[in-house]
Amino acid sequence: TISPLIAGNWKMNGLSQSLEELTELAQLLTTGEAPRAVVVVCPPATLLSAVAAQGASSGIMAGGQDCHTEASGAHTGDISAYMLADAGAQFVILGHSERRASHRETDDLVRAKAEAAMGAGLKPIICVGETEEERDAGRAEAVVAGQLAGSIPDAASQHEVIVAYEPVWAIGTGRTPSNDDIAKMHASIRQALVERFGEEKGNSIRILYGGSMKPLNAREILAIDNVNGGLVGGASLLAKDFYTIISAV
Ligand code: 13P
Repeated sequence: TISPLIAGNWKMNGLSQSLEELTELAQLLTTGEAPRAVVVVCPPATLLSAVAAQGASSGIMAGGQDCHTEASGAHTGDISAYMLADAGAQFVILGHSERRASHRETDDLVRAKAEAAMGAGLKPIICVGETEEERDAGRAEAVVAGQLAGSIPDAASQHEVIVAYEPVWAIGTGRTPSNDDIAKMHASIRQALVERFGEEKGNSIRILYGGSMKPLNAREILAIDNVNGGLVGGASLLAKDFYTIISAV
């Protein structure tokens, strides 16, 4: 059995005052019943050290939202996996559909970033997911299978990696796939992981669901077979909502 994980992706949201939400989340997590999920917050890089330092006492772990393939060098504006680790991150989101779309990230690039992340001791959260057109064309599972094959490095057999299934059309839209469609996709991802990495490893990799996960739908989505947690965008920005989702595990 896999311990569930709930990660908040703040995206390009959050100023220093947002740390008050983190304080509130820490209070909720430490005064209430102990969370049944591993809790990760992925703030913008400017807040990473603060989140890592402030979250430590309440068990909240920190993650980055992207990293470069190189450890250091002449790459203005980029941040390496080692720098994220140095700032206190333990995780890094890679290949988010927003980066695949607006920064033209390919499977090859995501795979190279994941290798760099694992080399720096980070656990990559590798995102995959089909567009609405691809789903309508009946290609959702094939698209996701291709992204998994191309984005997950072979070295994942020796490291902890996490997969996040995020249908592009469900992100920030308030729409989600049916529970049946989520179950089918997660089963197909599980099968691909087992075929590639074998029973033991393939069955140990967490598969998160992401896309309009909210306090109202979290419980039923998190109860679906092969859903081992969630990657939460908008609803992770408010401590109360994020805590409700964590408590729904
Ligand atoms: P929303 O929860 O805002 O739909 O975003 C999901 C997401 O992209 C998390 O990475």
